[in-house]
Amino acid sequence: MKINPVRGTHDLFGKNIKKFNKIISDVKDIAYQFGFNELVTPIFESTALFKKPLGEQSDVVLKEMYTFKDRNDDEITLRPEYTTPMIRAAISNGLLNNLPVKFFGTGQMFRRERPQKGRYRQFNQINFENFGSNDSFADVEIINLANLLIKKILPNKKIKLHINSLGTRENLINYKKTLSHYFNQNKNFLSSESKDKIQLNPLRILDSKNIEDKEVIDKAPVLIDFLSKENLNEYEEIKKCLNDLDITVYENTSLVRGLDYYCNTVFEFKTNEIGSQDTLIGGGRYDGLIEVLGGKDIPGVGWAGGIERMMLLMDDVQSQNQSIHLAILNQNYKSHAFKIYDFLIKNNLSVFWNYKYNLKKSLSTANEQKAKFIVIIGEDENINNHYTVKNLLNGEQKVKDLSNIMEFIK
Ligand code: AMP
Repeated sequence: MKINPVRGTHDLFGKNIKKFNKIISDVKDIAYQFGFNELVTPIFESTALFKKPLGEQSDVVLKEMYTFKDRNDDEITLRPEYTTPMIRAAISNGLLNNLPVKFFGTGQMFRRERPQKGRYRQFNQINFENFGSNDSFADVEIINLANLLIKKILPNKKIKLHINSLGTRENLINYKKTLSHYFNQNKNFLSSESKDKIQLNPLRILDSKNIEDKEVIDKAPVLIDFLSKENLNEYEEIKKCLNDLDITVYENTSLVRGLDYYCNTVFEFKTNEIGSQDTLIGGGRYDGLIEVLGGKDIPGVGWAGGIERMMLLMDDVQSQNQSIHLAILNQNYKSHAFKIYDFLIKNNLSVFWNYKYNLKKSLSTANEQKAKFIVIIGEDENINNHYTVKNLLNGEQKVKDLSNIMEFIK
């Protein structure tokens, strides 16, 4: 019986798992440098955590969640995103007392989308969240962190930062009303998909990829005209700070983000090198969301990045395998080989026993795996109680015993 992987899922191995692990390690380095602590949450949560906060009309809630009833008839959803679980965890564990608090996490998310390059049904996200501050420097800091991380993972790639301000929730509500009115007046020129969104989700029409909609969208009222003076000043300050940090900002007035909870600053890091799934990182402010989820009325700002999309752009990770190969030339020398095997393991080195009992095959495996050393155990070594060690990088070869082999290897 052959069972295939579920559509939109993939296994990680070889070059890809090296890239994956490099990303995780870079994430952790930068997180600790910026004072973010790791917060790991379960892969499934109560459906209610996502339904309202993400927006009942959002694509994620309408079409993409993996939701099921368990044996107790509890409504469960495989997490489609990480911000709401992080907030839930911070509230459940009383982590919102000394504000601000800064958390990060990495893990699998699940969305039943149509799979294509850069879009999967199970994928991995990196998440950074700052709870409890409405200081505009919190926005700058979290964007700066994202920018530095991208530079570290993709040093040679051109990634563009798009930014917009949605204003407060009230501004946004007014804007949505005006937008609905405008799209209604022009609905004969819109695609049928966009027509369906006029009443409930007019913002989503703005980032429609349908060419039919372009002309109407280009002439639509722009959000920036609805922003208060205070919001505008804050937005200007954020852009100025980013400039001071040498981060090039591209103002994108139609950037609205897919989930309902955003307000004020929103941003995305985009590339044009992987096709239509071009957003590597997306995030923004979500003041009000923590209260909606039963916490205090405190603000928040954060982002999520797609690990698989970064991997598509990333160069291979070059690494030297630190393990020491054993080339045991005959089954009869196993007990002599076992002594060095045990010795090296106890000295915290990694050892690879290949069960081949053949020099040529052992050397070829060692080279394939880019091993640094090979220890040869043949007749001579067995009789004289020593080992021949070869440095595979420079070809140097020495005869050693247990008392002096470490200095050669180290
Ligand atoms: P979102 O929560 O939709 O803003 O997603 C944040 C980031 O996660 C995106 O910018 C992508 O890099 C990544 N992402 C979202 N959905 C998928 C998916 N279905 N497959 C792979 N990566 C995804």
